[in-house]
Amino acid sequence: MSIERTLSILKPDATRRNITGKIITKFEENGLRVVAQKRIRLTKAQAEAFYEVHKERPFYASLVESMIAAPVVVQVLEGENAVAKNREIMGATNPAAADEGTIRKEFAESVEANSVHGSDSLENAEKEIAFFFAQTEIVG
Ligand code: ADP
Ligand code: MG
Repeated sequence: MSIERTLSILKPDATRRNITGKIITKFEENGLRVVAQKRIRLTKAQAEAFYEVHKERPFYASLVESMIAAPVVVQVLEGENAVAKNREIMGATNPAAADEGTIRKEFAESVEANSVHGSDSLENAEKEIAFFFAQTEIVG
């Protein structure tokens, strides 16, 4: 076990419905701390770059449009095994397959508008945190 940091995004479907506090409560109740946070409007170029790994997928264009449709809240979460812990708290990508009590089960609107993003590995967490935050903006 070790203390990790991971990148979290509260997606446009969450800011639009004003449920960011409910989602952050899930993280805090499950042992993760918000050590950096800002509300931003992603540009199309930023959304395309962030999801570049999915460029060839049929849902890429629609995903990019959905991510720029309203503001997002980007966060750094810190805690024991934060990368895997956050994925557990989020639940499966498709809310229909997500476990009870997870964010996506409770809040996601669809497989695309699924309320949250979370880094999928420690290596990607470091890259994704650096994509949005300067070290000086992260206060543990
Ligand atoms: P996760 O966010 O759970 O890591 P992926 O990395 O596979 O999932 O996909 C990135 C995002 O792309 C998902 O969170 C979701 O918003 C969207 N997405 C994934 N699969 C689909 C799909 N089949 N149809 C529409 N959007 C999808
Ligand atoms: Mg992913």
